[in-house]
Amino acid sequence: MAAGGYSIFSVLREALRGHTGWGPAWRDAAPKPAYDIVIIGGGGHGLATAYYLAKEYGEARIAVVEKGWIGGGNVGRNTTIVRSNYLLPGNIPFYELSMKLWEGLEQDINYNAMVSQRGILNLYHSDAQRDAYARRGNAMRLHGVDSELLDQSAVRRMYPFLDFENARFPIQGGLIQRRGGTVRHDAVAWGYARAADRRGVDIIQNCEVTGFRTDGNRVSGVETTRGFIQAGKVGLAVAGNSSRVAAMAGMRLPIESHVLQAFVSESIKPFIDGVVTFGAGHFYISQSDKGGLVFGGDLDGYNSYAQRGNMPVVEDVCEGGMALMPRIGRVRLLRSWGGIMDMSMDGSPIIDRTGIEGLYLNAGWCYGGFKATPASGLCFAHLIARGEAHAVAKAYRLDRFATGHAIDEKGMGPYPHLH
Ligand SMILES: Cc1cc2nc3c(=O)[nH]c(=O)nc-3n(C[C@H](O)[C@H](O)[C@H](O)COP(=O)(O)OP(=O)(O)OC[C@H]3O[C@@H](n4cnc5c(N)ncnc54)[C@H](O)[C@@H]3O)c2cc1C
Repeated sequence: MAAGGYSIFSVLREALRGHTGWGPAWRDAAPKPAYDIVIIGGGGHGLATAYYLAKEYGEARIAVVEKGWIGGGNVGRNTTIVRSNYLLPGNIPFYELSMKLWEGLEQDINYNAMVSQRGILNLYHSDAQRDAYARRGNAMRLHGVDSELLDQSAVRRMYPFLDFENARFPIQGGLIQRRGGTVRHDAVAWGYARAADRRGVDIIQNCEVTGFRTDGNRVSGVETTRGFIQAGKVGLAVAGNSSRVAAMAGMRLPIESHVLQAFVSESIKPFIDGVVTFGAGHFYISQSDKGGLVFGGDLDGYNSYAQRGNMPVVEDVCEGGMALMPRIGRVRLLRSWGGIMDMSMDGSPIIDRTGIEGLYLNAGWCYGGFKATPASGLCFAHLIARGEAHAVAKAYRLDRFATGHAIDEKGMGPYPHLH
């Protein structure tokens, strides 16, 4: 049996008895022969989908099948940033719904996910960039999302140690979303897993989907390394493996898989209390509650399914860090790792039906899918349960690449590695 509720009383009780009474956070379920709904992928999106299917849509007989372990994918590999500072109308309401869900998540799932609204600051370094940021900030405000354009002196007051006079990239100011921030990434996976389990969802780890069975044009189940599982509906939420798994169902997706790396330094005293992004190169940074500087940058730039990256990008990220805050050069790098990103052709996600009845697709999160986790789960659950798109996810159609309705937030064109 999984653990009971977490509360001040249970924490006190366990403190007094040496923490011997905690049960596992979720059951280690074995696959049953049949379910109403099978979600493939036990990352943040798959687990959140299962949770909201049970909680908001009253669905039962749900399984999440995960080829590895919960938290082993991108949900446990990202740099924990959450925000809703988008420009385009297709994106802002979706990501703002996600922000609102983050704000109530810990009470909802009874789990400490360390939601920390410490603010995210995007620095600008030229007049043109300031204008672009002002436009984005205004678009956010028109949608009721908080944003403020700061001048250089306001940024100096917040982060006096940045290299404001850098000869190539002087900092002129920044666009801040104060409600943005960080959330402990693996706690999100564990919290959703536990909350879904408590609503009866079977979470089946070490169970890789190896194929689909169809009855005419309708999906009837999935082949797995632990046998066939019959399913009324199947939701695909495998992030970096989307193309590979969709190919098993005969689909070719407008998605490429790329490596993205993250870095953590040794722990140091509190030094940077928000999230800061460099506007003249690809570098962003925050500090974890343990004191490590958490930072990252660009994709490695080549297609790969390896969860590790290479040295040229390590160098590139560190150069960005040195240009922004030279003092970072004295900190030792402790760890780095990589994750596989499902980069779509326009940089925006897909939450839609597929050409196979009963098979639904959640993919294309690029390197911004962590912040989307709650809204993605809710909207995917809505689609699977109701058969129609959620109001804030209507733009995330699979056919938008054919119809010319791309949601190209950065204006980069059809080049997945540039989004
Ligand atoms: C280094 C890095 C930094 C990032 N930083 C941020 C950030 O700061 N903010 C942000 O918003 N986003 C960030 N992201 C992106 C974000 O982490 C992802 O977009 C998001 O986590 C993807 O959704 P997920 O959690 O469901 O994916 P995953 O956790 O990858 O879940 C997919 C799961 O599917 C499983 N799977 C695959 N194939 C099969 C199969 N055949 N059968 C069964 N299971 C299968 C995988 O094992 C995996 O567990 C970052 C990503 C990386 C790698």
